[in-house]
Amino acid sequence: MITTPMTFAASANCVRYCGGTVKFADIHPDTYNIDPKEVQSLLSEKTKAIIPVDFTGQPADMDEIIAMAKDHNAVVIEDAAHSLGATYRGRRVGSIADMTMFSFHPVKHITTGEGGIITTNSEHFYQKLLLFRSHGITREHTLLKNTSQGPWYYEMLELGYNYRMTDLQAALGISQLSKLKLFVDRRREIANIYNKHFSKNPCIRIPYQMDDRESSWHLYIIQLELDKLSCTREVIYKALLAENIGVNVHYLPVHLHPYYQKLGYQKGIAPIAEKLYERIITLPLFPAMSNQDVNDVIMGVEKVLGAYSVN
Ligand SMILES: *Cc1c(COP(=O)(O)O)cnc(C)c1O
Repeated sequence: MITTPMTFAASANCVRYCGGTVKFADIHPDTYNIDPKEVQSLLSEKTKAIIPVDFTGQPADMDEIIAMAKDHNAVVIEDAAHSLGATYRGRRVGSIADMTMFSFHPVKHITTGEGGIITTNSEHFYQKLLLFRSHGITREHTLLKNTSQGPWYYEMLELGYNYRMTDLQAALGISQLSKLKLFVDRRREIANIYNKHFSKNPCIRIPYQMDDRESSWHLYIIQLELDKLSCTREVIYKALLAENIGVNVHYLPVHLHPYYQKLGYQKGIAPIAEKLYERIITLPLFPAMSNQDVNDVIMGVEKVLGAYSVN
């Protein structure tokens, strides 16, 4: 199964849970999303699934990826943990891939404490997911292998898990969902303000956006133009922290984690993602930020980069 290295580890770990082999396809240097050309070069008759990630909230190149998957009888599972509320060529994320996965972890657009959902338009996958969620067990008459022995009768058809969300969490999720548009609109507003300011700074590359898709802006990542700075990313990062800005780095490419290194994945298999990792910093972006907060971040970034700019 093929996924991107520029993501949270879970996008690859799900393959390992099923005993599959992860192939990491490098990213496109502009969008930071998985590069369809790299996917193409990794596809084989063994490929069972492609798992594109809508990195930072900008949808991946879904049409190209879905077409390739069709050619190889592979399934497309979109990791939309970053992109709830985003659109791709006029379509809503969640209705595009064979299956789309959303996370409701507290850092995501909406939360249920923990948990998530998978959407699909396929009855076949829907039935599989129901089984998978609940120990592989069903009472559905049409699915039973043996004739029902009575009203108590159920069967376990596959090795499933307990992935059930509690009703309490679901209630929170429904309430959160009604605020989604508000949350995403505010995220877009903040991203626009950042873009407007930071596009003027020669030390910063702002996140490139394709014009046929609308990001839901889970993350705002700046790329440092290190050749225009007299210091490393680490120095900038620490200086921003000292300015009381809650910066972060998303992500260490998955294949560089010790677990994947132990499995034999080499540094160098995804040079674009690896190089990007050395240059990125994630700035604070969440709906509850006030305009003053946004301004404080901008001032802090300008101050720090001004101090280390070589021009
Ligand atoms: C948060 C996240 C996940 C996993 O979500 P969980 O709710 O922790 O299972 C998967 N992929 C990406 C890209 C994420 O950011």
